[in-house]
Amino acid sequence: MNHRNGTRRIHLGGIPIGGGAPVVIQSMTNTPTHDVEKTLAQVNELVAAGCELVRVAVPDLRAVEALPDILRTARCPIIADIHFSEQLALASIYAGVAGLRLNPGNLRDSGAIHRVASAAAEAGIPIRVGVNAGSLDPDLLKKHGGPTPEALVESALGEIRLLEEAGLDQIKVSAKVSSVQGTLATYRLLAERTDRPIHLGVTEAGWHDAGVIKSALGIGVLLLEGIGDTIRVSLTGDPVVEVRAAWDILRACGLRRRGIEIIACPTCGRCNYDLVGLLREVENRLAGIVIPLQVAVMGCVVNGPGEAAHADVGVAGGMDKGDLFVNGEIVERGVPADELADRLERLVREIVAQREEK
Ligand code: SF4
Repeated sequence: MNHRNGTRRIHLGGIPIGGGAPVVIQSMTNTPTHDVEKTLAQVNELVAAGCELVRVAVPDLRAVEALPDILRTARCPIIADIHFSEQLALASIYAGVAGLRLNPGNLRDSGAIHRVASAAAEAGIPIRVGVNAGSLDPDLLKKHGGPTPEALVESALGEIRLLEEAGLDQIKVSAKVSSVQGTLATYRLLAERTDRPIHLGVTEAGWHDAGVIKSALGIGVLLLEGIGDTIRVSLTGDPVVEVRAAWDILRACGLRRRGIEIIACPTCGRCNYDLVGLLREVENRLAGIVIPLQVAVMGCVVNGPGEAAHADVGVAGGMDKGDLFVNGEIVERGVPADELADRLERLVREIVAQREEK
């Protein structure tokens, strides 16, 4: 069964999440939130990369005080990330955030949770129950002998109940661990036990290729099983990389597409031109395009167009030259290598203009 299609629909800053809505991409700033200029700059970079929701840490009053300025200018809904403090949660709601993330592991007073949930219900904003293996309630750790899937899910369901009792219906939930196997087991169990929309992520995935691979496996497998309504790829470093990886995961799962998808052959002894140089050039030139399009950069005319027949447009190299093709058909032959990037870009932009007109 596809869990995603059966989850309850919520809205965050007008964006639908759950109930079969397109999987939403979110990320988190890593600037000091009280530094409005830096935080806004990063929010806008994330939005430009295709991020749809941005979470900011609210660790102190300085961060709360910065929220109105951030909210006024940000080009996407902003979620406040709260740990420990009822006061910071309430103040963030009153500042006008579009959503809240609460960690049941460190805000455990049921009275406080009730007051925050009531305020969120009154403001009409959702709360994410954000369980994390690294900060699980000590009582649950003791009961289950560690941060097991059962322990994480019990924490999440207990917090959801508290929010519901306070009259809040706009709820989503995550339960993050840092291993792929733990992520799969935990989210599968969570999906069995709740119809609340699910936020997927592998926490502390690391960075570079290893972090992306870990996230792609954990998030991707679950998405393919029909679990997950919104995703965050957690990588150390520039969060814009997270957003690019998130789009790559959604595209690879066949769920959503955005911008240029590059198809390139691995090259072999038949390749007689600088494919890697051309690939880099093409990627840079086409980076700002939002309309989904497949562009192939292939090493030879023998197999290139055939191997990339499903691409919208492409190039297949020869001896210091190349052929251009559209939908698998060659449209220009023997183009000198130093003109390939120009001609390919022109073809792509023509197709983009045609699709924009439609
Ligand atoms: S497209 Fe040509 S150069 Fe590239 S891997 Fe295939 S056969 Fe080799």
